[in-house]
Amino acid sequence: MELFAVPDLPEIRAGDDLAAMIAERVDLRPDDVVCVASTVVSKAEGRTADLEEFPAGPRAKEIARNLEEISGDEKDPRFAQAVLENSTDVVMEEPFILTEAPFGHVSVNAGIDRSNVPDHDLLLLPERPSQSAERIHENLPESPPVIVTDTSGRSFRHGQRAVAIGWAGMPASRDWRGETDRDGHELQVTVQSVVDELAGAANLVSGEGDGGNPVVVVRDWDFGDHDGSDNMFREMRRDFVRQALRDWEYEP
Ligand code: GDP
Ligand code: MN
Ligand code: MN
Repeated sequence: MELFAVPDLPEIRAGDDLAAMIAERVDLRPDDVVCVASTVVSKAEGRTADLEEFPAGPRAKEIARNLEEISGDEKDPRFAQAVLENSTDVVMEEPFILTEAPFGHVSVNAGIDRSNVPDHDLLLLPERPSQSAERIHENLPESPPVIVTDTSGRSFRHGQRAVAIGWAGMPASRDWRGETDRDGHELQVTVQSVVDELAGAANLVSGEGDGGNPVVVVRDWDFGDHDGSDNMFREMRRDFVRQALRDWEYEP
C-alpha cells in the first residue's frame, strides 16, 4: 500500500466543497481510501465558534474553577460551557473534561480545537462525522471510501494518534472471528478496527502542526475477504472501564 497527501490544499473556509477540491488535485480510484482530518471537515461545515457564544452556567463555572485550582492556569468557564453543550455525557470533570459527543466518540474537551482555527476561538467537531464522510464519499469521482479522522489521546499510553470518528463506503472493522491462526485455532475475539488503523497511518503523513496536509489518500490497500462491522463506540452497558470511572475520584 501507499499513502500520499493531496497537494496544495488552501486554508479551508465555510462552504468549501471538499470533494471538489480533492477531485481537482488527485485522480482517484474506487479502491482508494480518502482520509480527511476533521479539522477541515469542520471548517468546510462552518463549525467555528467564539467563546462569547457560550455564556457560562453554574456547572461550567464550577468545572473551570476546579480545573484552575488543579492546574494553576487560568481557565475560561465559557470553554467549559462549550464543551458541555457539545456533549451528551460527562465521563470525567477533572483533571480534564472527558465527554461523549452526540455521535458516540469519547474525547477530551469534546474534541473542540483551539489550534489551526483562524479568525475564531473554537472549532467544534463535525456534528455527524459519518454523515460528513458519506457526503464526501458520494461526491468524489469513483466514490472511494472516506474516513474522517481526529487526533485523540488514549488511556494507558502516552502520546496522541489519529482515530476515525466517521466513515463511509467501507465497514469500520474487519472481523477475523471464525477465521484461523497459523495453528488452525479459530479466532474468537479479533475484530480489527481498520478505520482507526488507516486513520493512524494517514496521520503519519498529515502530521500535527502547520504542515497543511489534511487529506491523505491510501492506495492499494485491500480490505480482503472478511466480514465487516460498523460497531465502534462501546455502549455503556458493555464498557467496563467506563463503568469503573463512575466510582473513581481524582486525587491531586
Ligand atoms: P485534527 O487532527 O483533525 O484536529 O487536525 P490538525 O489541526 O492536527 O490538522 C491536521 C492537518 O491539517 C495538519 O497537517 C494541518 O496543518 C492541516 N490543516 C489544518 N487546517 C487546514 C486548512 O484549512 N488547510 C490546509 N491545507 N491544511 C490544514
Ligand atoms: Mn482535532
Ligand atoms: Mn491532528
